[in-house]
Amino acid sequence: MKQNCSQKFFEEALNLFPGGVNSPVRAFGAVGGTPPFIAKAQGPKIWDVDGNEYIDYVGSWGPAILGHAHPKVVAAVQAAAANGFSFGAPTELESRLALMVREIFPSMEKLRFVSSGTEAAMSAVRLARGTTGRDKIIKFEGGYHGHADFLLVKAGSGGATFGIPSSAGVPKDFAKLTLTAAYNNLDSVKKIFDANKNEIACVIVEPVAGNVGCIPPQTGFLQGLQNLCKANGALLIFDEVMTGFRVALGGAQELYDIKPDITCLGKIIGGGLPVGAYGGRKELMDNMAPLGKIYQAGTLSGNPLAMTAGIETLKILSQKKVYEKLNEISARLTSGIQEMIKTKKIGAKIEGVGSMWTLFFDRLDDFKKFFHAALEKGIYLPPSQFETCFVSLAHTNIEVDNTLDVFESIL
Ligand SMILES: *Cc1c(COP(=O)(O)O)cnc(C)c1O
Repeated sequence: MKQNCSQKFFEEALNLFPGGVNSPVRAFGAVGGTPPFIAKAQGPKIWDVDGNEYIDYVGSWGPAILGHAHPKVVAAVQAAAANGFSFGAPTELESRLALMVREIFPSMEKLRFVSSGTEAAMSAVRLARGTTGRDKIIKFEGGYHGHADFLLVKAGSGGATFGIPSSAGVPKDFAKLTLTAAYNNLDSVKKIFDANKNEIACVIVEPVAGNVGCIPPQTGFLQGLQNLCKANGALLIFDEVMTGFRVALGGAQELYDIKPDITCLGKIIGGGLPVGAYGGRKELMDNMAPLGKIYQAGTLSGNPLAMTAGIETLKILSQKKVYEKLNEISARLTSGIQEMIKTKKIGAKIEGVGSMWTLFFDRLDDFKKFFHAALEKGIYLPPSQFETCFVSLAHTNIEVDNTLDVFESIL
């Protein structure tokens, strides 16, 4: 692997951006080394500025479910661009995409488009607080919902203790309102509800945990959350920014057959352009300004370029058998890895749901070695043990078998 140009660009970037990057994990902090600077991507592949070619399992951290630069999406976005990028006024495209989203996520009777998953989650929690008149919220240890102050909180020593901020700059008084439970542990949620009677506005959860590596929900966990929320007058927020249009067309709520009160979407919904959305029952959403008293806004929200990329992406995802195909190709990869773990007695386990998967090594050092060896041989994985890998519809048996051959040679 040549890295001359990446090295040069990274050195320049280090003087321009904190850590040389515009989002922290990209800096390779957890694995060391120089991140390849990307020149272009097409389908399942990505190329760096030194001409190295990789099979991509990052997929822009989720959005690239069609593979990169799908010709139909590219053509539609190019045509839309010629008519102007953003007007700050209503367009029909917003309704076109909203109708598709509502058809796919019936729990979102009304919705709002924003420009990131962070905004979607932040606004969803504001909606829950404004509607219930309660300030405290429950989230899960390791759950990531973007970087809003009150969502950047992890557990204290015990699951039911007041939150401590996981970032400097988050006031303790904000963090106190965020209570942290353990994922897949209903008891830890119940304890918090019992200790905070009539004070919890909502529970926000990644229905399939994806930001601590991929961890599927245990049977009954999501239903149990819904029951606890109902019993306590709290709202259930599914943060499907990663799982929406990913684990099934209709996300985890379709896969596990649970209707949350509020849903957050992001990543795939913008087909690679910046889009997020949150939505729920009509009466709930009508609490938002200008109809209601809860404020939320955005200069670039619903802009025609992003809406177009979303519409074209969802059109393709709505075709028959798309998820069967995606899950089949993903299963070829994950069962191949599973087999390798068994026959080679590797200290690791693989977890996943559909096209989301993580290979968890027993020892972090083993992950680092694996990561760099894979990169060297043209397999581009997320540079952290605690992230999810994504397979796209552009991945074929050829890429999967190449990947398995590489893994066979380095594991
Ligand atoms: C990525 C992600 C977010 C944040 O989305 P951004 O677009 O990066 O702001 C929120 N929630 C979940 C579950 C995510 O995976």
